[in-house]
Amino acid sequence: MSVLFAETSVEIANAELIVDKFQQHFAEHFPVIREGTVLHYETEYGKVWMAGEKGRFQAEVNCYDAHVLMSIKAMLAEHLLEFSGDKHLRFRWQGHGADLNQLPNLFEGRVVRAFNVTPNMRRLVISVSEGIERLMTGGLHVRILIVPQGRTPVWPHLSQTGAVVWPEGDDELIRRVYTIRYGNVERQEIELDFVMHEGNHMPGAHFGATAKAGDLVGIIGPGGGVVPVEVDACVFAGDETALPVISRMVEELPAGKKITVYAEVADENERQDIKSEADVNWTWLYRNGKAAGTSGLLEQALRRHDWSEDSDSRHIFIACEKGEVREIKKFLSDEAKLPKNDFRTAGYWVLGEADDH
Ligand SMILES: Cc1cc2nc3c(=O)[nH]c(=O)nc-3n(C[C@H](O)[C@H](O)[C@H](O)COP(=O)(O)OP(=O)(O)OC[C@H]3O[C@@H](n4cnc5c(N)ncnc54)[C@H](O)[C@@H]3O)c2cc1C
Repeated sequence: MSVLFAETSVEIANAELIVDKFQQHFAEHFPVIREGTVLHYETEYGKVWMAGEKGRFQAEVNCYDAHVLMSIKAMLAEHLLEFSGDKHLRFRWQGHGADLNQLPNLFEGRVVRAFNVTPNMRRLVISVSEGIERLMTGGLHVRILIVPQGRTPVWPHLSQTGAVVWPEGDDELIRRVYTIRYGNVERQEIELDFVMHEGNHMPGAHFGATAKAGDLVGIIGPGGGVVPVEVDACVFAGDETALPVISRMVEELPAGKKITVYAEVADENERQDIKSEADVNWTWLYRNGKAAGTSGLLEQALRRHDWSEDSDSRHIFIACEKGEVREIKKFLSDEAKLPKNDFRTAGYWVLGEADDH
């Protein structure tokens, strides 16, 4: 596999300070190494190196995937513009994708049909004109771009700095994150499941509820996790927003794997029949009238779970409301004392706040 490379260099007065800001920002997400004026980190996607001194900021990115390279360049460029306080700062990238103007991970989708899976879960089948194979590899989630009512879509593009330029004003797109529940490469279709949750202004749920055949939607991705095929045992816990990803992982994991699922939903009517070749022990947890994001049911179930089992080769995945995830994470690390590498937690939505990704 060849390594793709890109670099940039920009004259900027407070270059050291910018590296400090990157360090603070990244440290919230993953481990970074600081050596004097240099900051670098490595993830499964690739390596990032940056340095700031004597009025010059430099960055280098190495990675295996062109889409990921573009995303990292965009992320670095957007933060550089923000941290410098100069929205008009001029710089260019050299190397792979230097002349790219279109987002390589942007797809145009057209709704084919919609139907309810359960009373509160509505599925949209969306056809993708090109690139379905790409959408079905490398990640389980996408960001949908909801087009303002009655407007012809104006999709984002890349500026010369590598930053993503989003349409504004009447053409502003609303972005929300959803899981690809199924993908059919032959038919060039993906399926997304939308939770019909409570709320006044909720563009994602509203799109899921009202979209009809022929409607256009932008799709950026894929990103996020992958099916954990390398471990022997999994514990998955989540509310209905995580049901699509948990169901997909359960369905795709092969025979011989041991999976425990705790799935919190509104009530018994929200149960789905999920088939798998793996050995699955699935527990439904019903809120029965309690508001989503407040029941504590997942934490209670995880407190009852026997963590002494399967500790040699396991993966634990937890996703639900952000505040509930925080409590569960505390329990897993401080009380259950599970090794940090054994689990991954994700806040999929925030109680009382719009998800402005
Ligand atoms: C990686 C990832 C994958 C996801 N996959 C899916 C998926 O496949 N299907 C899915 O439906 N969601 C999924 N979500 C969650 C979804 O992105 C959020 O629920 C999002 O907030 C929905 O946007 P909205 O426009 O409907 O509501 P927003 O405009 O974001 O929020 C409006 C109000 O609704 C509340 N709200 C948001 N979500 C819920 C909820 N589930 N229950 C109760 N109140 C809520 C908010 O607190 C806020 O008060 C995923 C999130 C992530 C990060």
